[in-house]
Amino acid sequence: MNPVGYVRPEDPGEAIELLSRSPGARVIAGGTTILDLAKSLVEAPAELVDITALPYAGIAETPAGLEIGALVTMSQAAEHPAVRARCPLVAEALLAGATPQLRNMATIGGNLLQRTRCDYFRDPGFAACNKRAPGTGCAALEGENRKHAVLGTSEHCIATHPSDLAVALVALDARVRLLGAGGARTLSVEDFHLAPGETPERETRMDPAELITAVEVPAPPPGVRSRYLKVRDRASYEFALVSAAVLLEADGGRVRSASIALGGVATRPWRSREAEAVLAGAEAAQPAFRAAAEAALQGAVPRAHNAYKVELAKRTLVRALAEVARP
Ligand code: SF4
Repeated sequence: MNPVGYVRPEDPGEAIELLSRSPGARVIAGGTTILDLAKSLVEAPAELVDITALPYAGIAETPAGLEIGALVTMSQAAEHPAVRARCPLVAEALLAGATPQLRNMATIGGNLLQRTRCDYFRDPGFAACNKRAPGTGCAALEGENRKHAVLGTSEHCIATHPSDLAVALVALDARVRLLGAGGARTLSVEDFHLAPGETPERETRMDPAELITAVEVPAPPPGVRSRYLKVRDRASYEFALVSAAVLLEADGGRVRSASIALGGVATRPWRSREAEAVLAGAEAAQPAFRAAAEAALQGAVPRAHNAYKVELAKRTLVRALAEVARP
């Protein structure tokens, strides 16, 4: 049994100070990520810094869209009238994830920081996992990789990013607001998550002693339709094999604007500007949707057991686009 300290700071400065002085400290909010990882011995926090007393539990409407506090739960965000009215893609992605019980506990900030579901990562009985133990290798490269990524991979890690919400936020050009000892800063959600490269243990551009305080979500203009389509092995409580977040505005049967992100197929939430370029100005119909899907998956690198994802992702994207283009 590992002893674990517990503190519940009352203000953000105190929380950042605690995180700065203790490299073994980890943030806890809803607990659905860190407790899971601690119980399976993937992480061994020396101290848990409970941030639930901090003032980040609100949802505010702004002229540009929404600000969703990091401590808002998935359920609260999914059910909030302003989220449903102004950014329905966010609500749809949230409701596609986890279970009602988990959504009642898990927070928006924690959702963006959840870690991969790669079985080798989550079981320390497997020695080779560069993400869990840098330099040990990657058991998934030649092992069971049916659920692994085909985009954004490296020879050091092919694990998929698990968040549905992050895929929707990338399609929406959302930004994540951070606070650390050096002050506040914002990053696009697209830039926030890192591809594994040679350092798969580093998953975001966040510093260890920073906090996520909120997510800024621009509301799509009137006329833009959206869809989050998730394909999985079972209907509930399952991570995406493939997902597509699409926003589309069509005028006179032609695409005026499109925003495309994919989940379940990449090592981070995957924006496809290649697909968007194919769609720009094209007729909003199957041939252009299929061409966009081909462009989105052009760089895919399948492994022994996950080649099916390439075609599945194309079909998922085509279907999502067809649904939003329907008159
Ligand atoms: Fe570890 Fe990544 Fe390889 Fe999975 S895919 S075993 S997380 S290095």
